Amino acid sequence: MKAAVYQGQGRIALEERPQPQPLDDEVLVRVFAASICGTDTKVLRGGHFRVGVNDTRVLGHELAGEIVEVGRHVSHWRRGQRVSVVPNIGCGHCDMCRKGLNNMCADYKAFGIDIDGGFQQHMIVTAGAISGGNLFEIPETMSYEEASLVEPLSCCFNAWKDLSVTPEDRVLILGTGPIAGMFLQLARAYGARQVIVVGRRAERLEEIAPLGATHTVDSSRVDAVDEVMRLTGGHGADVALTCAPAPELQVQALSCLARLGRMNFFSGLNKGTRVELDTNKVHYWGLKLLGSTGSSVEDYSRALRLVETGQIRVTDVVTHRFGMGEAVAAFEHALSGKGMKTIIYPQEEKLQ
Ligand SMILES: [Zn+2]
Ligand SMILES: [Zn+2]
Repeated sequence: MKAAVYQGQGRIALEERPQPQPLDDEVLVRVFAASICGTDTKVLRGGHFRVGVNDTRVLGHELAGEIVEVGRHVSHWRRGQRVSVVPNIGCGHCDMCRKGLNNMCADYKAFGIDIDGGFQQHMIVTAGAISGGNLFEIPETMSYEEASLVEPLSCCFNAWKDLSVTPEDRVLILGTGPIAGMFLQLARAYGARQVIVVGRRAERLEEIAPLGATHTVDSSRVDAVDEVMRLTGGHGADVALTCAPAPELQVQALSCLARLGRMNFFSGLNKGTRVELDTNKVHYWGLKLLGSTGSSVEDYSRALRLVETGQIRVTDVVTHRFGMGEAVAAFEHALSGKGMKTIIYPQEEKLQ
């Protein structure tokens, strides 16, 4: 079978590998869709604390496929089931795991990080993933591509659920990538009165706006904070999300917040980055500054239903699709920062 393998910092190559054999407590999935995430490109550039610059790993944690083999000690799963996975597998016995927060486990394992992930034609789902509830059967009506995108949506949902968005809220989204696109869709689905997206490139703003923005702000042309204040009639944003790894966006988001505003620092920054924030504003205006990472099995389950019921159309963020023979080109494309979401179809040779 073919696998797109990370071979150390900056290197990814298509390899011919033997098809993996599941152990008695594992299942084997034929992967039909695997989506490239910012985390994958970050690893490729050499920036993940759990994937060394000299490691070899099949990346990819946003994937869906069909079960083709089931270990003899595995119950409840059978060949032919269409499935997707929650990538972060908790240890199962720490305080966080006992609260159901597998994404907050300090001792987690993850597909595409510690375990070979989705950019290959067949992938092992480990015993820990099966017992942790990380394997999901997807509805018949859901495409593999949609199912692969439930994962990033579940991470957005994890951030979103604590922001308590109501139809009274003005939502500000900083960034124009696929995550920003999913937040625009969530804001629309939750009925936010105003949804403002801020970006630096006119063509990206044009691409993303139809997903749910009521206003766009091109920060290369106008002062983002002044423009958000103007668009909100001097009120500011009730909710803000930073969706690009730029420290200045965090400062801008805080400057734009209204009284009792809530924000989520969604995109992580480069390790060691420090940002100076006006904590007096947080104090006097009663702000809530939140963070989140990954998603729990419960978040994933809820995101799956948002997609199944058509409330969120995840495939609207997809701009490019590649076959397995083009996997290296797909990564080069994703690294170039063009378009929004890039999907690899491991069972197809060529799609471009
Ligand atoms: Zn991801
Ligand atoms: Zn744990």
